[in-house]
Amino acid sequence: MNYSEIKESLSEKKVELVAVSKTHGVDKIKKLYDSGQRIFGENKVQELIEKKDLLPQDIQWHMIGHLQSNKVKYIAPFISLIHSLDRLKLAKEINKEARKNDRIIPCLLQVRIAKEDTKFGVPPSDIHSFMQKYKERNYSFIKIAGVMGMATFTKDIAQIKAEFDQLTTIFETIKKEHFPGNEDFRIKSMGMSGDYKLAIECGSNMVRIGSLIFGSRNY
Ligand SMILES: *Cc1c(COP(=O)(O)O)cnc(C)c1O
Repeated sequence: MNYSEIKESLSEKKVELVAVSKTHGVDKIKKLYDSGQRIFGENKVQELIEKKDLLPQDIQWHMIGHLQSNKVKYIAPFISLIHSLDRLKLAKEINKEARKNDRIIPCLLQVRIAKEDTKFGVPPSDIHSFMQKYKERNYSFIKIAGVMGMATFTKDIAQIKAEFDQLTTIFETIKKEHFPGNEDFRIKSMGMSGDYKLAIECGSNMVRIGSLIFGSRNY
């Protein structure tokens, strides 16, 4: 399936596409940019900042991977969305660097919906206390725009569906408790190349697709 087919089917459903360009060169990214894509996702800070300098400045860069506190300063001046807010310590650092840059950084709360210990995120059972503590700190340079999650790497469709459904339920609970009537809290970032259709059926409105657009990666 090619980019324009994916793009078309997503825009019909009002689902935003993050083109995950990690490991791919700037030439490939520029090609997709020329086809109209503006949102690109990377999972490593170093790789992201190297590519950003070589590409058009109106690209909206999303940080989708695990983020170390000491690297926030490199992306704070320009990052459009951080999908991987999963610790209070990281929130503190993002708020500090956002203030320095006199901007508000939109972030998604990453939730660990997968049943693997390899995946990051706040465990569902800790979300309530995380949000409680987060609120008390009044971080005025962060805007929580929604949630992000990655399903378990498995062929068991029922399990993946249950995990996506769980993220949608968590989104609705957080919205009701902490952001009622606030349109800024609206993003459910879930779904990758292998499971994005299922994710959309479960309520996703932002998918992160890499290999289906760019081809497979050789790590
Ligand atoms: C790599 C990556 C993706 C995209 O994966 P594909 O299977 O290539 O679509 C999505 N989300 C995150 C967090 C990733 O690291």
